[in-house]
Amino acid sequence: MVGNGMAGVTQQLDTGILVEKINHSSGKSEWKIMPADYDYSRELARASFADMLHDSERNRLYRVGLQAAIKKVKARGDKVRVLDIGTGTGLLSMMAAAEGGIESIVACEEFRPMAECASKIIEVNGFKDDIKLVRKRSTELTVGPGCDMEQRANILVTEVFDTELIGEGAIGTYNHANQELLTQDRIVVPGRARMFAQVVSSDLASNWNRLRDIDLSNGDGKKIKFGGRYSIDNLVLHDIQLSQMNLSEFTPLSEPIQVFDFDLACKKSPIPCHDQTKKEFTAVNAGTATAVFMWWDCYTDPEETVLLSCAPFWDHKEGQEQSWRDHWMQAVYFPNTEIKINKGEKIELTSNHDEYSLWFDVNKINQDCIKPREMCHLPMSRTRLFEVNNVESNNKYIQALREKICDKVKNILCLGDQTILGLLAAGVCTNAQITIVQENRIMRDILHQISEENDLKERVTIVGDLDDLVTDGNPYEAVISDVFFNGSVLSWHNLVFWYHVNQLKQDGRISDNCITLPGCMSVWMVPVHYQHLWKIRAPLHNIEGFDMTHFDHIIDKASTTCDENVEPQPLWEYPCTALAQPTKLLTLSLTDTPVPEHPITYTGAIEIGPSQLDLNGLALWTTWDLTPELIINTGPCSEIKTGEQITWCKGHKQGVHFFKEHKAASRVKYNVTFQPQEGDFKFEFSNTD
Ligand code: SAH
Repeated sequence: MVGNGMAGVTQQLDTGILVEKINHSSGKSEWKIMPADYDYSRELARASFADMLHDSERNRLYRVGLQAAIKKVKARGDKVRVLDIGTGTGLLSMMAAAEGGIESIVACEEFRPMAECASKIIEVNGFKDDIKLVRKRSTELTVGPGCDMEQRANILVTEVFDTELIGEGAIGTYNHANQELLTQDRIVVPGRARMFAQVVSSDLASNWNRLRDIDLSNGDGKKIKFGGRYSIDNLVLHDIQLSQMNLSEFTPLSEPIQVFDFDLACKKSPIPCHDQTKKEFTAVNAGTATAVFMWWDCYTDPEETVLLSCAPFWDHKEGQEQSWRDHWMQAVYFPNTEIKINKGEKIELTSNHDEYSLWFDVNKINQDCIKPREMCHLPMSRTRLFEVNNVESNNKYIQALREKICDKVKNILCLGDQTILGLLAAGVCTNAQITIVQENRIMRDILHQISEENDLKERVTIVGDLDDLVTDGNPYEAVISDVFFNGSVLSWHNLVFWYHVNQLKQDGRISDNCITLPGCMSVWMVPVHYQHLWKIRAPLHNIEGFDMTHFDHIIDKASTTCDENVEPQPLWEYPCTALAQPTKLLTLSLTDTPVPEHPITYTGAIEIGPSQLDLNGLALWTTWDLTPELIINTGPCSEIKTGEQITWCKGHKQGVHFFKEHKAASRVKYNVTFQPQEGDFKFEFSNTD
């Protein structure tokens, strides 16, 4: 999990640093000046290092593996020379140094801000003379007298893995190190990594991949049909906390299958940059092969007894008690064709990797591979597609269109990005002309194609920009949106809809009494106890006995220079318990009130009853009213009960605020200011006894 997408490109100036940020009143980016060291601390804060270092199981198992390697080299009577590639905070090098009796430790780090941080931490912990820090990528290291490394190392310790294991270039790093930087009798920590895949049938998972037909519930069985042809490119990674999926949300079609076995010490040969395995299995259940779940594990010690596993709980020896980690999750892949499988049938799983990525396919044995259908790739995120496929939300839009719009208007304007709501409206309001504004060209082409396939073409017009809307004195009588705009980071940023409606009203391109759907937006909040998520922003203090406060200072500084104190997270992946009932902080009417000129502040307090759990954060989301009864909710998908875990919608990210101090607070005070110039909110929260 890296960053939160709040700011993108940066540019160095004498007075500070220019940072590109989105202005949510227009949805367009603009530049802001931030302090000169903003980039350094922000980059570090964003790099999800804290969560990795809070992973105490990882730290401990790496240490046990490293200790065993050092012991083994010493037992051979050899001098120990350690190379630590990608030292980060210097942690693994310090672990080696703490063992004593080591001839040399070289730590390299390519990411400058991180290397600066490591230098300070190594010094503070008293290992300055034991560890040589080289600010380089490992592939640039030189070996020989007077060089970066005096001699080749006989132990390599490195942690350059991501959820896909190889996504951060581990293959190249290992191949180079084994060939150029290490001795023949090297020990590599960890020395072996295995990758597992499990074929499953899951409607839920399919919603992350394929556009599903939408039933218009006219009673005549009419649907908007996509023919299974529209999906997301297979190479778009979907890394998630699989352990948060309910066992009822998928049916396993195979057991977990080991698909790759990586010898990280390259004892026989370098790790291939391209590889394919075909594994046959007998289907353990019947179902449609919709997805392949993937995870990996590794042995950290030379004897292969210490296993560090990223398996989801159902394949983990500790089950639900497994350690929490967010820097390595699991991933979901999608086969080319969703084949139907009978229980007991012989099936083949094909697994592929190149230097940086993985892909999978599922086919029947002894059957010619089904030629994958010509697929059309949707230019949207998997989370967005999940919401576009949300039957409950779509039904609400369909019902609201019928109740509020179809009989009353002749023309409808649909705004938003990556939306098919305009086509729904065309399907439901059969007497109306629909105009869709869709900025993305590929999505425009797709909408054209779908409207043709569904015989809606005659009544649908698609334009690329608001400025291209020509009304010729016939203003739109209804404007609709499923309120998703590309620039939005948090769900309330979709208020850009309101700004567009205002603009169009001023221009006379929509009528004064135009029906607006949704008609209002509310921001909600609930005080919570996050079971684990707080670790991504919490200070480390001390890790494995090493003082990490320098790192904490940097992160703390980053959080005070970045003014956003609410960040987006897909909360269904991160369990939290409600400590009070949710509170509506504010409501903005999008129908009859223009966007205000001046900021508006909303203040109040939420009382929290006694609880065993500390208050450590808040969760925020929005609701959008289509009618007083039909409400789109971007937060919980069932009623929140104080003291119970919250079930969150999977099609949206929610807003998260973390309190610095975790305590049994009795109230949360809030001060929320709507800033019309920026189309955003400024949040201030405090927790009091
Ligand atoms: N070893 C630390 C940090 C691991 S994170 C720990 O275990 O806590 C991985 C780090 O490796 C990142 O800081 C990244 O910048 C760095 N890195 C990845 N590949 C590298 C390479 N080939 N050479 C140097 N640094 C690398």
